[in-house]
Amino acid sequence: MNLNYPITYIKGISVQRATLLYTELGIKTCSDLLNFFPFRYIDKTTFYALKDLQPNSSEVQVVGKITHVKSVAQKKGSRLVATFQDATGTIELVWFKGQKWIKDSLKINEPYVVYGKLNHYNGSFSIPHPEMELATEYKKKLQTKMQPVYPSTEKLMNSGVSNKLIRTYIQNLLEQFYNGIEETLSKEIIDDFKMISKRDALLNAHFPKSQENLAKAQNRLKFEELFFIQLQLLRKKLINKTKIKGFIFENVGAIFNEFYADKLPFDLTNAQKRVLKEIRKDVASGAHMNRLLQGDVGSGKTIVALLAMLLAIDNGFQATIMAPTEILANQHFIAVSELLEGMNIKVDILTGSVRTKKRREIHANLEDGTLDILIGTHALLEDKVKFKNLGIAIIDEQHRFGVAQRSKLWKKNTTVPHILVMTATPIPRTLAMSVYGDLDISVIDELPPGRKEVKTVHRFDSNRLSVFKFMRDEIAKGRQVYIVYPLIQESEVMDYKDLMDGYESVSREFPSPKYQISIVHGQMKPADKEFEMQRFVKGETQIMVATTVIEVGVNVPNASVMIIESSERFGLSQLHQLRGRVGRGADQSYCILLSSFKLSAEGKTRLKTMVETTDGFKIAEVDLKLRGPGNLMGTQQSGVLNLKIADIVKDTKILVAARNTAIHLLQEDSNLSKPENTNIKKAYLELSKTSKIWSNIS
Ligand code: ADP
Ligand code: MG
Repeated sequence: MNLNYPITYIKGISVQRATLLYTELGIKTCSDLLNFFPFRYIDKTTFYALKDLQPNSSEVQVVGKITHVKSVAQKKGSRLVATFQDATGTIELVWFKGQKWIKDSLKINEPYVVYGKLNHYNGSFSIPHPEMELATEYKKKLQTKMQPVYPSTEKLMNSGVSNKLIRTYIQNLLEQFYNGIEETLSKEIIDDFKMISKRDALLNAHFPKSQENLAKAQNRLKFEELFFIQLQLLRKKLINKTKIKGFIFENVGAIFNEFYADKLPFDLTNAQKRVLKEIRKDVASGAHMNRLLQGDVGSGKTIVALLAMLLAIDNGFQATIMAPTEILANQHFIAVSELLEGMNIKVDILTGSVRTKKRREIHANLEDGTLDILIGTHALLEDKVKFKNLGIAIIDEQHRFGVAQRSKLWKKNTTVPHILVMTATPIPRTLAMSVYGDLDISVIDELPPGRKEVKTVHRFDSNRLSVFKFMRDEIAKGRQVYIVYPLIQESEVMDYKDLMDGYESVSREFPSPKYQISIVHGQMKPADKEFEMQRFVKGETQIMVATTVIEVGVNVPNASVMIIESSERFGLSQLHQLRGRVGRGADQSYCILLSSFKLSAEGKTRLKTMVETTDGFKIAEVDLKLRGPGNLMGTQQSGVLNLKIADIVKDTKILVAARNTAIHLLQEDSNLSKPENTNIKKAYLELSKTSKIWSNIS
């Protein structure tokens, strides 16, 4: 018998029940059930003296005797009241239902163990519908004193699979399989962290003997869960590093040096220098670079990307940047072309709107190596696009591209080009460890000097007139303004109406010909969207009314005001991204968060956070706490959502310990082949069979 057997092997579980447990909870094997943990425990480890009861204690356990029972009339019917006493005081036990039956079964002056929710009214305590058991019976039983309460579903409850039944199943399971539970960690790790054994941990996670035991059990199981995820991620990284050969960019050559000395328009920030060093180390090593570059909007990722591309070109390779939208690709193209002006480097752009003739030319130049840098959108992924020797692929704003698309870019070469993924969506460090644990991560955590913080305020809708006045003043100074409306799928029709109403009222306030307004939303044809965007980019319009389609990367340094309508409806990371559209030029920029008076507690926290900080990482931390990992970028494909016991937000310390332990272990024994690591290897292989850790890149 082993734990991979289906749960029908457990005493008391019929095929029917097993099917139900599978469809409702996804529990199939004994191991699944064993790793199905309670979400809370009823603590019956403490007996309270009646005099010690506090108005705030919620559920209590007491021992005493019933001295007498009476029926008390009330407005509707009656209630049954028993006076309950111990050596220190008196409370009442109360029943509203089943009074006759209960009255007959209560024994006077015999010790009972009573458990229930404590009510406090007019200075006296009562427990309605208590659980009770004669003390003599109670003593006979082997008590699991803290009772586990398991997650359930309505269907399970309705089919008679109560919490008690699940408890029984797990009890039976533990009785049958306890000896089959194998240790999964090495003696060294167990000793280092003074952990309890796996068996004891599982036993105590379900049926803890005390709070202390429970904590020990949970710690051990959380550690183990996170440890094995880290081990998988880190081993994957190790294997990629050794198996996938990367091109070697040995030379920092003439082109890089010329650019650095003569063309670089500013000094790099220390953060940019550090990241560049990290990249250079990667690409010179012979291993394949698979690096994620995180940096807030405006932190200057583009120049880092360009320098990395120059390294490739210096070594005889081509380079590419893939951007999620045509407008972004265009902006990259313009920026890169300007920066490289006067140098002998050929750059081109390929997007969906490039005509056939030009397209053929690009294809040809790419294949014969005339073209050094190709910038583009998804159009780069088409089969016809063949590089002569692509050395590095840079992917901007990664979350817009799926995993499959990215690997397509890979396959354009026989050897895999170095990959640098750039994202402006900061991911908290702990989450990054779990989601991108198999990648190398670089962070630009410093903005270029002289950048002014975007001044952010929260205003209620009723202040709209003063907001309009502020807009007029800024426009008079030559600035441009964004007004953004939320567009949330479920209520698209209504949102669309909001947008159009908003557009109309803005048009009334800012009449043509003095003012020109662009409008962009998701229901427009791409070409029309592009046209309107371009008008704003060129400065032909002063106001851009838009939905969140403008969220990603568009750069209009002259736009200095971002107004967000119904800002309480946006998520934090979205608000942060939107605010990132302004503050790109030399002028003071502003972000005005408009909302109604009705704000949820969470909505308040979001707006307050936005007003208080512009640090993307701090915002991401708050976001993670508010929403949990499930809604954050990238987590959908990773293991962190399927955690059975650990919590990626709360168990940060354990996560860090688990990761460091895994790193240390792989340094000592990368193949887990040492005899002292047999347990770990076995568990690791077992786990690799069932759970697949996704990489976000390969
Ligand atoms: P993002 O990280 O959002 O892609 P960009 O690369 O577009 O940021 O850079 C934002 C702006 O900051 C650009 O105009 C760029 O020229 C400028 N910039 C980048 N690095 C520096 C620097 N070290 N000093 C001054 N300006 C810089
Ligand atoms: Mg950018």
